Amino acid sequence: MSDKIVLTEEEWREKLSAEQYHILRESGTERAFSGKFDKHFIAGEYYCAGCETSLFNSGAKYNSGCGWPAFTEPMANDAVEERRDVSFGMIRTEVLCAKCGSHLGHVFPDGPPEKGGLRYCINSLALNFESED
Ligand code: FE
Repeated sequence: MSDKIVLTEEEWREKLSAEQYHILRESGTERAFSGKFDKHFIAGEYYCAGCETSLFNSGAKYNSGCGWPAFTEPMANDAVEERRDVSFGMIRTEVLCAKCGSHLGHVFPDGPPEKGGLRYCINSLALNFESED
């Protein structure tokens, strides 16, 4: 994860849809239950919509009921970076793609206890999916 992807704001705007730009580059959040991967439980891999790095495997995905795709862990510990986020009067931990720095979502300590107790709450618009063949 040493080679970071750095694009200018103009390049990001060209690469991403307006909705994706808002989430990935402005730390936006899609509306709960609006995302295409919220209730999506096909076997495969989820990639960063900003740089196509593998981020999450379907094996770690579960139905948290929160309205966004939820995972118990990333594909690799160094695939994502975490950062303290005190916006909106809350103390949360932001999750970013380690490779391109795009905002993905937040991680909360209310995941399934038997699987580590974490809930990576990720925007569908921050992800692309490829099913297992
Ligand atoms: Fe990325």
